[in-house]
Amino acid sequence: MAEKVIGFIGLGIMGKPMSKNLLKAGYSLVVHDLSRAAVDELVAAGARSATNAREVAAQCDVLITMVPDSPDVEAVAYGPDGALAGLRPGTIWADMSTISPVTSRKVAADAAKKGVQMLDAPVSGGEKGAIAGTLSIMVGGPKEAFEAMLPIFQVLGKTIVHMGDSGAGQVTKAANQIVVALTIEAISEALVLASKAGVDPAKVRQVLLGGFCQSRILELHGERMIKREFAPGFKIRLHRKDLAIALNAGKEFGVPLPVTAQVHEMLNALMVAGKGELDHAAIVNYIEALAATEVRSAAV
Ligand code: NAD
Repeated sequence: MAEKVIGFIGLGIMGKPMSKNLLKAGYSLVVHDLSRAAVDELVAAGARSATNAREVAAQCDVLITMVPDSPDVEAVAYGPDGALAGLRPGTIWADMSTISPVTSRKVAADAAKKGVQMLDAPVSGGEKGAIAGTLSIMVGGPKEAFEAMLPIFQVLGKTIVHMGDSGAGQVTKAANQIVVALTIEAISEALVLASKAGVDPAKVRQVLLGGFCQSRILELHGERMIKREFAPGFKIRLHRKDLAIALNAGKEFGVPLPVTAQVHEMLNALMVAGKGELDHAAIVNYIEALAATEVRSAAV
């Protein structure tokens, strides 16, 4: 399967390890990012570079994008130097960014006019999952394009599911991001309460991990809160974007999301406090500010 040329645009926290895994699997890569340093790192690892999205698109059989938000995917897609100006009919474009399902459907429809099948294929599993090649990949779009992409997705992830038509992957990711944000918020309240009440939060985490509320988020983000490790990871700024996507989807489909709305406001407050670039485990800082305390453990 190493004969396909893959174009990869967006070499950030996620895109960099994902593209490196594709190189290791033997694929030829043409890459592009707004950051020269990120491109240089991939070129040193064996990729070729191109100066814009159109040039990447014109050279590849499969295009993968991993940029932050809906306007970034549109910036990659449109304009004289955009991907749609370069993509050849028959190419598959998998956008693995987390964006609005409405934007996904719009860009996919414009790609289809050029004979290009587009998949929305957002991921869960974070930087660790990207490095390990164990991401969960939730895919919307034409089934035959999904099947053609499967060997490539299998390099990047472990759990790979075709969710339905265009946009279905993004709706699934919105559901994922609701669970993650609200769980981090719940863990924040629990650990702040325990800590201020004089019970060691590290011990609380330990015993809760053996009980019914065991979760990967309690394991990893609970640890981050206790060790005060707030370097990203997944940034507050990006999670705020994802909850905005979920709230808009809720409006569109008539589903009130009351607690999601509250956590969205907490993320807004953290942005205003200058914490947008911190990991989303820093939601605990919001609860700490309310309680005029900090999570502290004797074990750290
Ligand atoms: P990031 O900000 O680290 O990286 C994004 C990269 O895209 C940057 O290098 C930026 O320069 C590049 N970029 C932006 N616009 C571009 C353009 N027009 N042309 C070329 N390059 C462009 O973000 P990330 O954490 O890697 O996240 C990427 C996507 O994956 C987001 O949609 C995010 O929500 C999603 N995601 C992130 C994580 C995580 O843990 N970080 C987990 C799951 C999903």
